[in-house]
Amino acid sequence: MNDFTKWGPSTLGIRAAEPRTGEMEHSAALHLTSSFVYTSAAEAAAVFAGEKKGNVYSRFTNPTVHAFEERLAAMEGGDACVATASGMSAILSMCMALLKAGDHIIASRTLFGATINLFNNVLGKFGIDTTFVDPSDLNAWGAALRPSTKLFFVETPNNPLTEIADIRALADIAHGAGAILCVDNCFLSPVLQQPLKLGADLVVHSATKYLDGQGRCMGGAVVGDAQRVGKEVFGFMRTAGPSMSPFNAWVFLKGLETLGLRMRAHCESALALAQWLEAQKGIRRVFHPGLASHPHHELAKRQHLRLSPGGITGFGGIVSFEVEGGREAAWKVIDSVQMLSITANLGDTRTTITHPATTTHGRISAEARKLAGITEGLVRVAVGLENVEDIINDLSGGL
Ligand SMILES: *Cc1c(COP(=O)(O)O)cnc(C)c1O
Repeated sequence: MNDFTKWGPSTLGIRAAEPRTGEMEHSAALHLTSSFVYTSAAEAAAVFAGEKKGNVYSRFTNPTVHAFEERLAAMEGGDACVATASGMSAILSMCMALLKAGDHIIASRTLFGATINLFNNVLGKFGIDTTFVDPSDLNAWGAALRPSTKLFFVETPNNPLTEIADIRALADIAHGAGAILCVDNCFLSPVLQQPLKLGADLVVHSATKYLDGQGRCMGGAVVGDAQRVGKEVFGFMRTAGPSMSPFNAWVFLKGLETLGLRMRAHCESALALAQWLEAQKGIRRVFHPGLASHPHHELAKRQHLRLSPGGITGFGGIVSFEVEGGREAAWKVIDSVQMLSITANLGDTRTTITHPATTTHGRISAEARKLAGITEGLVRVAVGLENVEDIINDLSGGL
């Protein structure tokens, strides 16, 4: 048995949980099957009763999905992982498994839009209340505590302003109040940030983004300890069925093998683009944690992992910037691109460009947008894997 604790996350993305059938294939096989057969009634009974190791039904036991779960758990440094059909179903499963009516959540007010809707409109209907706070104002998290607070939920860096929340400090506040901290690690992935090692109790992922990395499949995951995730979240997933498809799990297994390499390229190009943007005229501000001008640059340097030993820190692939001239100027930049894709997706090989105020954050109130710092002049770029000179050339047209 290899000792996974000795390997770095890029190695684990390749070497942790290498599934192998009797054919001894080198690259993981795809088990595209809903059910499994037994040699006798007695064997079927033993597997169903959990007395004998084996698969029952792909809603909750599929070897390809299981390999993805084991590999991601190793990369995040967690004991258990449950794969789900999407990032949203990972967050839903985690909440349904661990919370009940009357419980209270404290969450960052700058979360992914569907997560805010899930907390407010879905969980709210079942008697779970959420208070939204400024992610970097630690006093606000403490002040929002109630005796019924069970869960802290944060995304860091957040979208689109790349603000960084202090995971260790939030874990301490949560634990002091008997609550747990869940981090949405979608924007950095375990090769750049390992929240469980910083004191967080749970990590959720949208595998749709960087874990796939090529914009093909929907998927998600919850990672954490054996009791909460291995038993409770698994139990919900088994019963309710928001399971990951084995085909998608196979695509994600391939994606994890290149995750370290891809994240390094996303980060290097994003930093180069951010530095170039900072030197251009007509731009009010550039938002990227790798810039010394970013208010949380030092925290990011402490919290994120390095791209190589002694190398630079990984700051992620998102760069936002505010142009002078409001919406008209921002739309002009977007409409002038020839190569970049005008879409809100991220974590793809292809660089994407979007206007947050009228797309990803278009459905929240103008006041909430203002509070979150999302102005009409703001443009978000999710840097892909093209040559960075070509990304810069394409953007320079509209600037
Ligand atoms: C996309 C995204 C999600 C939701 O994931 P899906 O796979 O689209 O369901 C959750 N959190 C963050 C930060 C995201 O970017």
